[in-house]
Amino acid sequence: MQVAQEVRTRVYKFGDKAADGNSKMKNLLGGKGANLAEMSAIGIPVPPGFTITTAVCTEYNESGKETVVEMIKTEVEEAIANVESIMGTSYGDPENPLLISVRSGARVSMPGMMDTVLNLGLNDAVVKGLVAKTGNERFAWDSYRRFIQMYGGVVLGMKPESKEDIDPFEEIMEHLKEKRGIELDTEFTIQDLKDLVYDFKDAVKKQTDHSFPTDPWEQLWGAVMAVFESWNGARAIYYRNMNGYPADWGTAVNVQAMVYGNMGENSGTGVCFTRDAGTGENVFNGEYLINAQGEDVVAGVRTPQQITNLGSKRWAELAKVSEDDRAENYPSLEELMPSIYKELHGYQNTLENHYCDMQDMEFTIEDGKLWILQTRNGKRTGAAMVKIAMDLLKEGMIDEKEALLRIEPNKLDELLHPVFDPMAIKRATIITRGLPASPGAATGQIVFFADEANKYRNTILTRIETSPEDLEGMNLAKGILTARGGMTSHAAVVARGMGKCCISGAGALKINYKTRTLTVDDKEYHEGDWISLNGSTGNVIEGKVATREPELSGEFGEVMKLTDKYATMDVRTNADTPKDARIARSFGAMGIGLTRTEHMFFEVDRIKAMREMILADTVKGRKQALQELLPMQRSDFEGIFEAMQGLPVTVRLLDPPLHEFVPHQLATQKELAEDMHISLGAVKNKIAELHEFNPMLGHRGCRLGNTYPEITEMQTRAIIEAALNLTEKGIDAKPEIMVPLVGTLNEFIEQEKIIRETANKVFKEYGATVEYLVGTMIEIPRAALMADVIAAHADFFSFGTNDLTQMTFGYSRDDSSKFLPIYLEKGILKVDPFEVLDQEGVGQLIKMGTERGRKAKPNLKVGICGEHGGEPSSVEFCYNTDMNYVSCSPFRVPIARLASAQAALKAER
Ligand code: PEP
Ligand code: MG
Repeated sequence: MQVAQEVRTRVYKFGDKAADGNSKMKNLLGGKGANLAEMSAIGIPVPPGFTITTAVCTEYNESGKETVVEMIKTEVEEAIANVESIMGTSYGDPENPLLISVRSGARVSMPGMMDTVLNLGLNDAVVKGLVAKTGNERFAWDSYRRFIQMYGGVVLGMKPESKEDIDPFEEIMEHLKEKRGIELDTEFTIQDLKDLVYDFKDAVKKQTDHSFPTDPWEQLWGAVMAVFESWNGARAIYYRNMNGYPADWGTAVNVQAMVYGNMGENSGTGVCFTRDAGTGENVFNGEYLINAQGEDVVAGVRTPQQITNLGSKRWAELAKVSEDDRAENYPSLEELMPSIYKELHGYQNTLENHYCDMQDMEFTIEDGKLWILQTRNGKRTGAAMVKIAMDLLKEGMIDEKEALLRIEPNKLDELLHPVFDPMAIKRATIITRGLPASPGAATGQIVFFADEANKYRNTILTRIETSPEDLEGMNLAKGILTARGGMTSHAAVVARGMGKCCISGAGALKINYKTRTLTVDDKEYHEGDWISLNGSTGNVIEGKVATREPELSGEFGEVMKLTDKYATMDVRTNADTPKDARIARSFGAMGIGLTRTEHMFFEVDRIKAMREMILADTVKGRKQALQELLPMQRSDFEGIFEAMQGLPVTVRLLDPPLHEFVPHQLATQKELAEDMHISLGAVKNKIAELHEFNPMLGHRGCRLGNTYPEITEMQTRAIIEAALNLTEKGIDAKPEIMVPLVGTLNEFIEQEKIIRETANKVFKEYGATVEYLVGTMIEIPRAALMADVIAAHADFFSFGTNDLTQMTFGYSRDDSSKFLPIYLEKGILKVDPFEVLDQEGVGQLIKMGTERGRKAKPNLKVGICGEHGGEPSSVEFCYNTDMNYVSCSPFRVPIARLASAQAALKAER
């Protein structure tokens, strides 16, 4: 049987407002190739070229260079002829040379992982032609020496192999610099550049035993094959493995005419945006330079000029440049080259309408002819992201669902917290980096002790780690910086709850409380010195950096309203005080998923009674102290219930190890001894008794309520009495009492019994009742495994993924900052599992726990209250696990609302 010879296109041309391919062909043409084809097809003047498909890469891997060259030779020759005819130049012709670039382009962007060669087509004859054509000898010879250097490295294998090896070309340049007593590449004379070309070629000959290829076609084939080869280079393989991209995808090769913006006063280059990337305002804007190459615009040596008149005038005002000076020395492109500007303006319209999103474009003007090099969806600030999505919706370019999907939930953070002034932050010096524990920007003077947090007007509380005793100081400080502790450390969790900027686990900081100094490497900072924190990146910055307060725009409200239309999973909040509850309510929380009752005990007037309770030797003594705490807890609960106006409120019984509450400073220990009429020694003994080797796995959670039932009694009474008091006032209250750290059914049953008995007692006393639930946290792996048994008794489950992560990985929440950053750096872990839920591992326990729980009780209410409840990818996981709600700190509520809506929309798609 005869097999028909397969006829397939291996080379796709583009240019002159036409293209063989389009943007849907990413798998075959790679991302870059498909986009170039699309742009060309819709009439955008991209420098002409062609794409050799990813399928050819696979053929190369299977059959090698000779076979592949044979396969595509005719198509490539035709494609080059097409480029020549569009450009009016000729490849390899010294009189009128065409120079080309050869770039990789896989179906997904793999930045810097594969190779590129620029300026192909140059040789000793062509470089002279280029000099004659451009009248720019320096440019021509510099391009030539760069070409040999790039080609030598990429194609001829002259890249240094290890970091100790020296790049042979760099070595030659260093020698020449030394000889000439200069420091910068720009100081080379034209003769130097010519000498470099000579020496580079000599080095090629010595190292490879072959002369540098002068035939442009040999250059082209060499480069194309080198790009294919780079698909299997170490960098690309590492990147592919890391991202799970299969090896048989292959890379495409894009060959394109080079265009130059530095060919004289009639040339130039620039970048532009179809809308303002900072504010989202619908105004075309951008910068350009005459007689320059792309890198000159960003290099900051010359001052780029504005593209539009409006932009130019706004710039002049900010830069305090007079109108005469501006018009004379910094005219806009609109003024200087009106017809080019008009053409560019037309393309930006076409591109935005085509892609239905704000575009970031690069362009070059070569001798009076405009070329668009690239367009992509532009990066933007959180504020711009919200405004652009809502504007595009109003302009009818996208629908509501698409508008919601266009906003990255985490970017909303920028709208909710102070941010650094963009100009000021550009000049900042970074001291070190820690974990971005709580977003926002803070600037203040260093203090080392919580009780000195108001020593200056703006302070940064700088601690090795924080403890509950520091709560008030943390509240007063503008920002919190710790040397130890991970993303769920005390500092991180509390700061997020407060909406306060925090960097935790900045391990390079050496803090000396005695000398009140902070040392990083060899630099020392003292109390009172100014530092700044970027809680969104983890950067610790030297000195004072101006910040800007957030302003919630009307568009933000519109986005939030839209989320309600599409979200099906509720968002609750973790709030411990009426104030936090009110903030969360204003952000749209539909209840409270976690009130950590212990946080209520840290305030000055309460901690005393709490300490007396802990230090009491008898049940009677404990009850007495608890009696003092009862009215305070009750009034807190009243405040929280009131703020939530009938929405469900989950209150968790006391959870943390007791020693967290005892005083560690001598003065406070003395005070306590006096108050309790016992000796200092007795206080010290008791504190020593409370010491645990592993408090995270020690006497905490429901182990407290089960060993000291009177605590559960008091807390239940406070909750139920508060609910009844409010009901009397006509305000609905829906308490859900939650038992922490349950691992066995009996632990739960024992607590439930006390809760129900106490509630019944209170109902009798009041002669009234209120509905309430009794549920449990699922935060110990055993509880997830036994979920069906536990669900038979519990009214609801709330996954405590902070502890569940800790116990599933076996990483202590308190100590993980010692090794997690290294794990992340080495790629052992891709993300911090305390920040982003480990769906693969911990997720299995959550899925299993939910399924088993619902098998026993089909309408079991299930939620999450670990820090992951406000992290978008984790929220999506919770949606897919069919949870009823996620709960997160107040300032993350908008993020979780958007993530919840997006999860529903993605599932629908
Ligand atoms: C948890 O463990 O996920 C949780 C919410 O409780 P905490 O962080 O207070 O231990
Ligand atoms: Mg917990």
